[in-house]
Amino acid sequence: MTTHTTRMLIIGSGPAGLSAAIYGARAGMEPIVVQGLQPGGQLTITTDVENYPGFRDVVQGPWLMQEMQAQAEHVGTRMMWDTITSVDLSGPKFTATGDGGDIYEGDTLVIATGAQAKWLGVEGEEALSGKGVSACATCDGFFFKGKKIAVIGGGNTAVEEALYLTNHSDDVTLIHRRDSLRAEKILQDRLLAHPSISVLWNKRVEQFVAGEDGTLTSLKLADTQTGEHSDFSTEGAFVAIGHAPSTELFKGKLEIDGGGYIVVEPGTPKTAIPGVFACGDVMDHIYRQAVTAAGTGCMAALDAERYLAEREFADKASVAAQ
Ligand code: FAD
Ligand code: NAP
Repeated sequence: MTTHTTRMLIIGSGPAGLSAAIYGARAGMEPIVVQGLQPGGQLTITTDVENYPGFRDVVQGPWLMQEMQAQAEHVGTRMMWDTITSVDLSGPKFTATGDGGDIYEGDTLVIATGAQAKWLGVEGEEALSGKGVSACATCDGFFFKGKKIAVIGGGNTAVEEALYLTNHSDDVTLIHRRDSLRAEKILQDRLLAHPSISVLWNKRVEQFVAGEDGTLTSLKLADTQTGEHSDFSTEGAFVAIGHAPSTELFKGKLEIDGGGYIVVEPGTPKTAIPGVFACGDVMDHIYRQAVTAAGTGCMAALDAERYLAEREFADKASVAAQ
């Protein structure tokens, strides 16, 4: 068991955590990043990324994250292969315990544990992820330009994804397991009035089916009222049944909203505990993009640096006054 100390402890190695690390390291805070079970975060499970600024051509998600990590290490970040199992935020130092028993101690803590899209867990879904099945219309909608697309779900996310996808296709079908939507009325009205969108009610997806080329060709559906089975041909299916932010560690320690996201001071990454910051998908249920995660990671590092500078100034002033 080893104790690792740093001025900036970062939990999570997606775009938010690594961007915080790049800024923190360049400010001389010698950050430690604890990587977790998915080093590099969600982008490591996708292929083409073509909306992250700085690259004229499509880049691969895993490659982008390797580069981000290399940049963070190059400026002085220490990367740890560990997963945090508990945290103590009582301060003044914030501590986190790894699953092997190592202790990480930070003068500041940046939480960048991200979120995971929820999946249906049915046959073919995982195998066809990135080959016709996606959980992010903003990221992957472009690849289905002019094709027939399905969106699965009935909440705000599903309706927004369906509306967004009409930018790419005039044949979008929302597939929902009930006969009414959970989404806000205004979004429902827009969806139901849209000429490019149809809705299939009371249908559950039972299987994602691949064609000979290994990409999605159809969905097997079951009617939730009658049990009747049917096939729905489509080349793109967007699963939009919600996201689960990774906030289990912080329950009872930080304010968590009804969706499970860490609550921050609006427009900032500041939590209610001075010195503890949250950035990226773990605190953002609206944008959920790599570039916004990186942006809030940068903000967290800048705020952490300011927090420490102010605290050190106050400590010096109080010593001088004695
Ligand atoms: P994440 O990337 O989720 O990273 C979270 C990190 O926290 C991981 O490293 C994980 O290991 C770590 N962690 C979690 N729990 C612990 C723990 N207990 N201890 C230690 N570490 C922990 N966005 C785009 O902008 N463009 C795209 O093209 C795009 N494509 C996407 C494709 C797919 C299939 C998916 C799922 C998402 C896509 N996104 C895309 C969204 C983008 O990936 C996310 O918005 C972004 O990764 C969020 O970054 P993050 O750093 O907040 O969290
Ligand atoms: P959500 O509101 O929880 O809706 C999830 C939808 O997926 C529901 O319609 C649910 O069906 C369906 N679903 C869940 N599990 C399923 C399964 N296994 N099989 C089939 N369908 C399943 O999630 P969300 O839409 O991602 O929204 C999450 C939160 O973010 C909400 O608070 C939402 O208001 C908010 N949000 C807001 C905005 C906005 O304000 N513009 C945009 C996006 C999200 P049932 O209805 O049958 O349960």
